[in-house]
Amino acid sequence: MAPGGSVCKEVVEFYPKLTKYDVVMAKAEKNNTSVKLVVGSCEKHGTPSTNGVHELLECPVCTNLMYPPIHQCPSGHTLCSNCKIRVQNCCPTCRLELGNIRCLALERVAESLELPCRYQSLGCQDIFPYYSKLKHEQHCRFRPYSCPYAGSECSVLGDIPTLVGHLKDDHSVDMHDGCTFNHRYVKANPHEVENATWMLTVFNCFGRQFCLHFEAFQLGMTPVYISFLRFMGEDSEAKNFSYTLEVGGNGRKLTWQGVPRSIRDGHKKVRDSLDGLIIPRKLALFFSGGDRQELKLRVTGRIWKEQ
Ligand SMILES: [Zn+2]
Ligand SMILES: [Zn+2]
Ligand SMILES: [Zn+2]
Ligand SMILES: [Zn+2]
Repeated sequence: MAPGGSVCKEVVEFYPKLTKYDVVMAKAEKNNTSVKLVVGSCEKHGTPSTNGVHELLECPVCTNLMYPPIHQCPSGHTLCSNCKIRVQNCCPTCRLELGNIRCLALERVAESLELPCRYQSLGCQDIFPYYSKLKHEQHCRFRPYSCPYAGSECSVLGDIPTLVGHLKDDHSVDMHDGCTFNHRYVKANPHEVENATWMLTVFNCFGRQFCLHFEAFQLGMTPVYISFLRFMGEDSEAKNFSYTLEVGGNGRKLTWQGVPRSIRDGHKKVRDSLDGLIIPRKLALFFSGGDRQELKLRVTGRIWKEQ
C-alpha cells in the first residue's frame, strides 16, 4: 500500500514514505551492532536536536515527544494524539483530511530508543527505554516540587532552595531557625471558617526545611483547626523525622505526635487524611480564654531526628 493523496478512512496501518529514520536505523546498526540508541535529552523547545530519530519523534505541532498512538495524514505528516484531537481531522501541514491512520513504523522505531530522564540537568542519571521514560519521570525523585504554600493556586515549581526563596520573597512566609517553636495564632473573627485561615511557617533545622501549616476547615459539620508539619523533600527522608505539637489553655492540653509528610503530598491531601493536630473550634475558643469570641492559640512544638 503506497501513500497517496486520496482520503483514506478506515485504514489502520499505514506506512509512510519517510526514509529519514530508515537511514538513521541503518547507521545505528552499522555503528553499534545493537539498534538500541541513546540520544541526548533535547526536549526543551527550540533546542536543536542532534539526532534525527529524536527529531522525528517530536510532534511537529506541539513539539512534545510523541507516544502511541502516533498518527499521520495520508501524505505521511505525523502528529501526536493530543494534537490529532485539537486539529479537527485536518492535517496542520498539508490540510488533507487526517482520517484514522496510525504510524506503526515510527512507534516501533521509538521502541528501540533509550533516552535520558528529562530531569537529567537536575541530577537524574538514569536512562530509559522510550516508553517507560514517561512513567519514570512522573515519579523521578529529581522532578521539581510544587510550591507548598496553601490557600492560593500557586503554580511555581522548583527544587527546595528555589522554593524556600520563593516562599520568603513571594508569599512573605516567616522563616525560623531551630527545632523547637512557640507560635501564637490570633484571629479576631474565628467564626469565618468558610474564608479559611491558612498560615505557613518554615523551620530550618537539621539543615532541612519543614513547613508548619495551620488552617481552618469544616470537618463534617464541625468547624475545626488543623496544624501539621510537611517536610521539604522526599517521603523516604521525611520518615527519619518526628514532631510534636501542643496546644492548650485553661488547664487543658492537646498533644499530637506525628511524622512530617513530604511536600509531594499536597496540603489538602494531608489535611483531609487528618494527619495532624485537630482542634475543634469550640475547644480552641475555650483554650483562648477571655470571652471566647477571639481565637488566641499558642501552639508549641518540636522536631527531632529518629535514630
Ligand atoms: Zn502534538
Ligand atoms: Zn499532511
Ligand atoms: Zn529521573
Ligand atoms: Zn508559591
